[in-house]
Amino acid sequence: MKKAIERFEKKILRTNDCWFWTASKTKQGYGMFSYDGKSIPAHRFAYIAYNGPIEQNKIVHQSCNNTYCVKPEHLYLTTKSETRNKFYELRINPEMIFNESIRYLQKLKKIRPDLNHDINKLIDQIKEPKNIHRINVDNP
Ligand SMILES: [Zn+2]
Repeated sequence: MKKAIERFEKKILRTNDCWFWTASKTKQGYGMFSYDGKSIPAHRFAYIAYNGPIEQNKIVHQSCNNTYCVKPEHLYLTTKSETRNKFYELRINPEMIFNESIRYLQKLKKIRPDLNHDINKLIDQIKEPKNIHRINVDNP
């Protein structure tokens, strides 16, 4: 373990806030570290190395929401469903979808002035709160 931690620490950049993983990452942005002949998520290794064993069925999550942070103080154990709830709460909420949609449509208006009339109608529809409400992001 000691050797693995030394190897691990060469791949991280410590800041006052997070410890950033600088080596290979997955498409989802999680750092990967090879340990014991296996490739495991870097933050998972960090948890085991600095905080202790991970209980069964638990996953390691970053309180800072940095997918490549491996700072022990930022890591905590959670269950999959708790993470999923957090994820939707955090990244996708109706207000964000609403703002993004408006922004997108306004860009589109510049590119396609011929569609201005239809786009304006769509924007008005989206601005109706009852329509936003129908976008159900709580139950994916
Ligand atoms: Zn962090």
